[in-house]
Amino acid sequence: MTKETIFTSILNGKIKCDEVYSDELCLAFRDIQPQAPTHILVIPRKNISSLKEAEEKDINLLGHLLFVGSKIAKEEGLENWRTVINTGETAGQTVFHLHIHIIGGRDMTWPPG
Ligand code: 5GP
Repeated sequence: MTKETIFTSILNGKIKCDEVYSDELCLAFRDIQPQAPTHILVIPRKNISSLKEAEEKDINLLGHLLFVGSKIAKEEGLENWRTVINTGETAGQTVFHLHIHIIGGRDMTWPPG
């Protein structure tokens, strides 16, 4: 079961976002609470709650999201960045519409908290 989220409202234009990229499959925009100088979210137009709910038929879409994220990171001038997909509440997911974080512009530590 997929529910509407704040990202559904961003996709249908009810809530504004700082858009950086758009195509027929996805939308990318700046995170409202950036965790680094560059923090962009790439979301599919298709409503998939999390990576857990992605199906085999979504393989091309998932690859597309990763590729678009990388393209955006390079366009933002990043040489290094982190790509994050929080999956499930205890992994830090707060919005239940699949999204890829592109985070960069500062040094990162590992492991993440
Ligand atoms: P999650 O914690 O689910 O992996 O990531 C959700 C992200 O969405 C968070 O980094 C949060 O700051 C961002 N976010 C939540 N609501 C909005 C919003 O209305 N606009 C934008 N641009 N980002 C949002």
